[in-house]
Amino acid sequence: SSDLSRYRTENPDNSFDDIGGLETIKERVKEVVELPLSKSDEFSEIGADPPTGVLFHGPPGTGKTLFARAVADSLEDGTFYNINGPEVLSRWYGESEREIRRIFEDASQRDGPSIIFIDEIESIASSREGSREVNRRIVTQLLTVMDGFDEFEDVIVIAATNRPEDIDQALRRPGRFDREVEFPSELPMEDRVDILETVSEQEEMNVADSVDFTGIAEETEEWTGAELKRLLNDAAVSGVKDSRTTIIPEDLALALRRIERSRRGKQNESG
Ligand code: ATP
Repeated sequence: SSDLSRYRTENPDNSFDDIGGLETIKERVKEVVELPLSKSDEFSEIGADPPTGVLFHGPPGTGKTLFARAVADSLEDGTFYNINGPEVLSRWYGESEREIRRIFEDASQRDGPSIIFIDEIESIASSREGSREVNRRIVTQLLTVMDGFDEFEDVIVIAATNRPEDIDQALRRPGRFDREVEFPSELPMEDRVDILETVSEQEEMNVADSVDFTGIAEETEEWTGAELKRLLNDAAVSGVKDSRTTIIPEDLALALRRIERSRRGKQNESG
C-alpha cells in the first residue's frame, strides 16, 4: 500500500486572502466547513450536527480546489488530503477499500482538523449505466466510512465536480454530501477586477501604473478565475520576451487576444 504523504499537505499555503472576489462563497465555505471544524466542541455541546460531506460544484477553473485548500489552511493545525478521482481509480485497483479507510483513519488521528478533498468525484461516483465494478466498490466504501463517521472526528469530506447531475444520488443523502456550494460560471465585473488585483499582488507581479484592470475586466466577461490568472501570467511572459521587467497594457492586450482565440476554439469544439 502507498505512502499517505502522497495525498497529505499540512497547512497548505493558500489563504482566503489570496482568493479574489467570490465573497458569498467565502462566507458559505466558512460557515459550512470552517466553523464546524474550528468549533467542534461547541457544536457537540449545543447539540448541532457538523456536516460530514460538502459538494462543491461548478465549471473547471472556478476555484473549487483553491477554496478547499484555503479552508484547510485557515484551520489551526489543519491538514489537507487531495484525492483525484481518475488518478486513484487506476492506482487503487483492487485495494480501494483499504486505501480509503487508511486515509480517513490518518485524518482523524491528526492533532488538528482535516479536509479530505475528492476532485472529479463524478469519475468514480457516476450515476450512469455501466459504471465499473471498481467504481462501485470505491463508492460503497466511501459511503460506509461516511455513514460511520462518529468514529472519525474533526474530518470533513469535500467532493468537487463539474457535473453534479451525473452523480450517484446515494451520495446526496443526509449524513453524506448533504450540503453544497455552487461556483458560478460567470463572475460579476467587480469580482473580475478583484481577481486581477489579488492574483497580481499575490504573485508579486510588476504591473505598470498605466494598466487598467477595470478595462480588462470589461473585456473578459464569462472568463473564469483560472483564465484571468493565466492572462496575467501570459502578459508577464510577453513582457520578458520583450526584455522588460514591468507588465504594460500592450502585454495584457496581446495575451487577451490569444486567450480569447483559444476560448473561441474550445467553444466551437464543444458547440
Ligand atoms: P477544476 O474543476 O479544473 O479542478 P477548480 O474549480 O478546482 O478547477 P482551481 O484549481 O481552484 O479551479 O483554480 C484554477 C486556478 O485558478 C488556480 O491556480 C487558482 O489559484 C486560480 N483561481 C481560480 N479562481 C480564483 C480566484 N477567485 N482568485 C484567485 N485565483 C483563482
